[in-house]
Amino acid sequence: MTDDRERELTEKEPDKLTTSELLQLLKLRHTGDEPPPCPVCGGAMSPVHSGRGPTKWACTMWETDPDNEGKLRRKSNRRLLDDHFAESVWYQYVHDEPWVLELVRRVESWGAVVGDTSMVDI
Ligand SMILES: [Zn+2]
Repeated sequence: MTDDRERELTEKEPDKLTTSELLQLLKLRHTGDEPPPCPVCGGAMSPVHSGRGPTKWACTMWETDPDNEGKLRRKSNRRLLDDHFAESVWYQYVHDEPWVLELVRRVESWGAVVGDTSMVDI
């Protein structure tokens, strides 16, 4: 869906897009990929390594410890770097660009202030 919309928008030359379409394209291109659920158990994924390049995510081996508030414990069926970890690894190549997203938010709010929902004339 997102990729389809991005492709549709990029079929036009930049000067043929409305301001609203340009903002939508910037938002699509600068919003990070959402980590999928773990392919093994459906649980939440956690970032395990980041730096230059993609962020590595994997199914966490930790869970909240009901006996120690605010603490984590290792899940009973998990070991460090086990097969579950290896099979769940996912790489995030696109990360949120908060500066771009903030600019898009501000420009969209200007459109709301002037009452021009198409924002063609901004
Ligand atoms: Zn899992």
